[in-house]
Amino acid sequence: MEQLGESLLQLITETATNLPADVRRVLKRAGHKEQPGTQSNQALHIISLNVDMAKENISPICQDTGMPTFQIHTPVGVNQIVIKKAIQEAIAEATRRGKLRPNSVDSVTGKNSGLNLGPGTPVIHFEQWEEDEIEILLILKGGGCENKNIQYSLPAELEHVGKAGRDIEGVYKCILHAIWQAQGQGCSAGFLGVCIGGDRTSGYSGAKEQLFRDAEDTNPDPTLAELESRVMSNADSLGIGTMGFGGAVTLLGCKIGALNRLPASFFVSVAYNCWAYRRLGIRMNPTTGAITRWLFRDDAPEKMAQDAGIPTTGREFSFTAPLSEADVRQLKVGDVVVLNGPMFTGRDALHKYLVSHDSPVDLNGAVLYHCGPVMLKDEDGKWHVKAAGPTTSIREEPYQADILRKFGVRAVIGKGGMGKKTLAGLQEVGAVYLNAIGGAAQFYAEKITDVTGVDFLEEFGIPEAMWHLQTKGFIAVVTMDSHGNSLHADVEEESGRKLDLLAV
Ligand code: SF4
Repeated sequence: MEQLGESLLQLITETATNLPADVRRVLKRAGHKEQPGTQSNQALHIISLNVDMAKENISPICQDTGMPTFQIHTPVGVNQIVIKKAIQEAIAEATRRGKLRPNSVDSVTGKNSGLNLGPGTPVIHFEQWEEDEIEILLILKGGGCENKNIQYSLPAELEHVGKAGRDIEGVYKCILHAIWQAQGQGCSAGFLGVCIGGDRTSGYSGAKEQLFRDAEDTNPDPTLAELESRVMSNADSLGIGTMGFGGAVTLLGCKIGALNRLPASFFVSVAYNCWAYRRLGIRMNPTTGAITRWLFRDDAPEKMAQDAGIPTTGREFSFTAPLSEADVRQLKVGDVVVLNGPMFTGRDALHKYLVSHDSPVDLNGAVLYHCGPVMLKDEDGKWHVKAAGPTTSIREEPYQADILRKFGVRAVIGKGGMGKKTLAGLQEVGAVYLNAIGGAAQFYAEKITDVTGVDFLEEFGIPEAMWHLQTKGFIAVVTMDSHGNSLHADVEEESGRKLDLLAV
């Protein structure tokens, strides 16, 4: 199997950088549905540009390259230990080359292992089959959407949909509820993998397995096919839209499978995958390890974006940081901000730290970016940003308002929005929350013109460190303003009302 390592490295690199053919088609169709001049339309255009840039630069589509999960079928007699070792080596090499972000963290010490290896990373499932070739499927599902997975135990009483019983109607209600609870936090519009039944463990596993299906296939089980189609026909009417901005497209795909269950249990497990649905596969010669064909990949994909410009909404404002209170107070929910100048990244570790310590830099008037970038150091020791989209902001809800007050931060950039405590903090100090387009890691990396410093690299690791960036033309939407308005709260409430009607 002399070519095994190279084949695996190609699979990992392509999965991280080249969106599958079926997903591209689904996203393209979605793009035609959003009204020109809306934030959702603008966001979908940025997503399309980003997909093209990732393919061209052979760089990660999204900076969160997720939990690498392999599903492997081997003919009887193939040595699975050899394949497992080769996968680990290929994962480490892809991380060294900046195709994967170091994403594996010791859950006890909090230390990043550095090369995406460690207990439980990567995830590898083997199964034997009666075919002659080896098949390896890989999905890279990021943390933002993984956090929106949900499991229901029926019967249940659920917000907006009411009683969900142990039947297909109950399952339908769970799925609608799952979409609603995700809002834009999993980088909508998303894809669902659903498993009816199993136990708590096999249910989640079965839900994720559904994400290995072709996004455009038809379920061979007529009851499940009908359920998939019913969900697809109704989900968009929730109006959650791209990134939860409100809009015509909320769900891009729904795949449902079923496992037998214990008489006493009835679980419905839902795996939510963001639009950056990175899943490819290869067939391999079992003797040489050479790739015989690709699965889900378009060898020469057409460009996703129709043109290189960004459609405007007519509500654009341009600022250079540091920002003043007057700059920020004029902004209203729905405005689009184009930022220039310095910006600092900060995620979970930094927020926890700042609450009880001083900041290593002056954050007065600063822009704080919830982002864990992919970074590479060149031979001269200079850091370069390889991918830098926003991370899910709600995790910082316990800290954000205190940090706004303590340091005078004027703008927080992230995705998915924040809660009431932060909204009150924004109002009190005169600051805004800006929603960048989740997953648009190449698009935003291009807006970062320089890396001027870094703090806490040793202590927190690359994704959690505080990176000092210079930006030009960094675009994001005001979704929480300094006047007490939150687009996220509005969309959640409105989509909840629509869900009430749908579930009747
Ligand atoms: S697109 Fe969003 S949810 Fe998906 S991996 Fe990237 S940041 Fe996470």
